[in-house]
Amino acid sequence: MTTAETNVPVLIAGGRVIDPSSGFDGIADVLVGDGVIKAVGPGLAGQVSADDVRVIPADGMVVCPGFIDVHTHLREPGFEYKETIATGAAAAARGGFTTLCAMPNTEPPVDNAAVVDYVLRRGAAAAVRIRAIGCVSKGRRGRELADMEELAAAGCVAFSDDGDPVHDSGLMRLALTYSRDLGLPISNHCQDHALCPQGVMAEGWVSSRLGLAGIPAVAEEAMVARDIALAELTGGRLHLAHLSAAGSVEMVRTAKSRGIPITAEVCPHHLMLTEDWALGGHGDTAATGALSYETQTKVYPPLRRPEDVAACISGLADGTIDCIATDHAPHDRASKECTYQDAAFGISVLETALGMLMQAVHDGGILLPTLIDRLTLGPAQALGAAFAPYAALVAGTPADLVVFDPDAVWRVDVNRFASLGRNTPLDGVELRGRVAATLVGGRPVFAEPDLLAPDLLSTDFSSTDLLSNGGR
Ligand SMILES: [Zn+2]
Repeated sequence: MTTAETNVPVLIAGGRVIDPSSGFDGIADVLVGDGVIKAVGPGLAGQVSADDVRVIPADGMVVCPGFIDVHTHLREPGFEYKETIATGAAAAARGGFTTLCAMPNTEPPVDNAAVVDYVLRRGAAAAVRIRAIGCVSKGRRGRELADMEELAAAGCVAFSDDGDPVHDSGLMRLALTYSRDLGLPISNHCQDHALCPQGVMAEGWVSSRLGLAGIPAVAEEAMVARDIALAELTGGRLHLAHLSAAGSVEMVRTAKSRGIPITAEVCPHHLMLTEDWALGGHGDTAATGALSYETQTKVYPPLRRPEDVAACISGLADGTIDCIATDHAPHDRASKECTYQDAAFGISVLETALGMLMQAVHDGGILLPTLIDRLTLGPAQALGAAFAPYAALVAGTPADLVVFDPDAVWRVDVNRFASLGRNTPLDGVELRGRVAATLVGGRPVFAEPDLLAPDLLSTDFSSTDLLSNGGR
């Protein structure tokens, strides 16, 4: 793409613009140019010549800031056969995500400035904005604190040993103390392994029926309780990753009512799927008479009971839970085509996230503007003030935005995924709500050919565009 082409203004015409940062919710046009939002309002289409702008017709669609994912596994460096930064970013664009925070459980892990620099340099050439999360402990071994100051100076936006919890309470206390001084959150994967040494799915009737070791909700709740206590003690910036149990949501609600400044996330799959999906048949247990299982449902934390799903949705709706994070965890086929015990934990989520989440809206569990808040402003606030411009749709802010059809019904087909990870229990499942177009820094990085004219998309883009638009 030439420089001239990258500067072609884009007019998104006639959509329902929802901007949680300003509270705007109404039919309007959005004019984008020079990488930023130029104007938002009714009647902009009449003020520009159709020859001068690329028009995205958005009648019946929602236009909002691009989604910010505080929890993504991009697998590079070390596991490029599962995902690369480039393929993960392309999957993000298809899913409406414009900023990804990459988890540090790579090989080598992101526990020093050189690896941070590698991830950010690779990320600068990707379709969406890539931010790095650094390790809490050296080598993610949970023994010795990583040099958090070095990681922060190198550009890390948070810290996590995700994939593993920070088991050592003394180490967690120290990390939270540093997080307070650095002003960056610690995202902890809460799970006490001593309570679920061989666990592969939620402890309950499904694990009993299949004869597989369970993971009780208390394994998560016990560490959530510890971390809240440590956050209160230290004044640190605690962010609770992927909460899945009703008891955890209630503890966060109580902590917030006492004024403890913690934040928390939930994942799309924990808002839609339940433990019985492990039996195959897409949660329709009547369809699976035989004793079988579906390894694509194996995920950390596990899919749980309908009561837990309901608690996570109501926690998200009332603000107890600040944001949605995908925990996108791509895997190769061999990691899933094996026994349930041997299968890897994780689901490839980026490309189905919106469709899964919209089910909660269509079912009346959460209002659409609230859901969008939890995908944009919520994660930006959990990360810190530097992210605010990327969660706003007002003149002068970076033109990171998504256009989606809230009612489009489509069938998930993993063969169309941009992610190398085709591990999802949703293959073949119908979802309602689909991304039509995604713009990063004013450039269309994805356009859905089933919903929009394919010539909208310019596939060739260079890293300099992202950087010049305030990328880092
Ligand atoms: Zn995790």
